[in-house]
Amino acid sequence: MTAPSPTPDWYQQGLPHIWLPYSQMQTISPPIAAAATHGSRITLTDGRELIDGVAAWWTACHGYNHPHIRTCVQHQLETMPHVMFGGMVHEPGLRLAKRLCDRLPGDLERVFFTDSGSVSVEVAMKMAIQSRLNKGETRRTRILAFRGGYHGDTLATMAVCDPEEGMHHLYGDVLAQQIIAPLPCDDASTQAFHAILERHAHELAAILVEPLVQGAGGMLFHAPEVLRPLREAADRYDVLLILDEIFTGFGRTGTFFACEQAGIVPDIITLSKALTGGTMALAATVARRHVFEAFLSDNPEHALMHGPTFMANPLACASANASLDLFDTEPRLEQVATINTALTDGLKACRTLPGVRDVRTLGAIGVVELDRISNPDRLRQAFIAQGCWVRPFRNIVYLTPAFTISESELHTLTRGIHTVLSA
Ligand SMILES: *Cc1c(COP(=O)(O)O)cnc(C)c1O
Repeated sequence: MTAPSPTPDWYQQGLPHIWLPYSQMQTISPPIAAAATHGSRITLTDGRELIDGVAAWWTACHGYNHPHIRTCVQHQLETMPHVMFGGMVHEPGLRLAKRLCDRLPGDLERVFFTDSGSVSVEVAMKMAIQSRLNKGETRRTRILAFRGGYHGDTLATMAVCDPEEGMHHLYGDVLAQQIIAPLPCDDASTQAFHAILERHAHELAAILVEPLVQGAGGMLFHAPEVLRPLREAADRYDVLLILDEIFTGFGRTGTFFACEQAGIVPDIITLSKALTGGTMALAATVARRHVFEAFLSDNPEHALMHGPTFMANPLACASANASLDLFDTEPRLEQVATINTALTDGLKACRTLPGVRDVRTLGAIGVVELDRISNPDRLRQAFIAQGCWVRPFRNIVYLTPAFTISESELHTLTRGIHTVLSA
């Protein structure tokens, strides 16, 4: 890995000590060097400017450096950047918990803060399993998840990702043996799902699904109607329903939460990605009253045994509160609808390109699915040459821009995709 020149000293000296994610470090082309961000733009150290098509892994929904978020985080930085959350609470954390619960449907009313999406899913699984253990039910310890799903990179969450696309084959027996079913979208998959449920219900703690969009598993969409039977099945077999809205939460699919479109209330929901508007690391696992009540007891061992050091970091909570302010005061969902129209129009022309299998959009998500991508690294370089920051993975090229992106910036992105895929 050799660096492009001219490059700053810190790049030359630091790069040999960095291990990048999802990258074969022997063959990867040198990473670009970001110097500053603003709105939907990333300025590189060599002066080039890229339009961010993926909003920093779907987080920066208001664009970068939004003045309101900056002001709120700066204020928090001056009063209390961090304090532990064990035996102690603070205003930004409690305000945020209340505001999230006010926004969430039903009696989702208890928030447990963590600092990454994967850990929030682990906490959800622990809540589901321990709520049964606390009642003396020791056999309900497994999770049913779905093909195409993605729930994180930690050891426990890898085991609930798609077994083929995920890292199951690599880690084999190390992973917990969870139950992976097809998402019940048609007659055959519905039959298979119910057969699996019938066979395994007695050992299940929860059903875990990403509502409407399976994100990192390939940006696969399903109709809201798919989710209602999952709620019914969970009720019938007395297992909990966990919705992982880490990707879909905060407007990405067109409604504030994806579950609103299906009209269902999960027992537990996980949130992260756009929670702080892309400024700080934060995640939340929110439980319904009955889940919380399963932990109330005279027995200290019935408490939820989890506590990340930086949980409810005040800077992160201030950032999330500022982000919610912006959803209250600025027309984010209308912007998502406008983006959807622009993505649908802008990517339409890709349909007829050779090697394109599907073009689809939902909310502020636009996807071009190809037969295959043989060299994602080279594709990424081609997008950079077009002034676009787009990060293809598996066999898809996708856009998940900031909701504040301008019409012309979005046009540059969709035109860039068409140009690169035509070549
Ligand atoms: C990104 C993501 C996660 C993992 O979040 P991290 O913060 O990367 O640990 C889990 N579930 C879904 C649906 C995600 O999109």
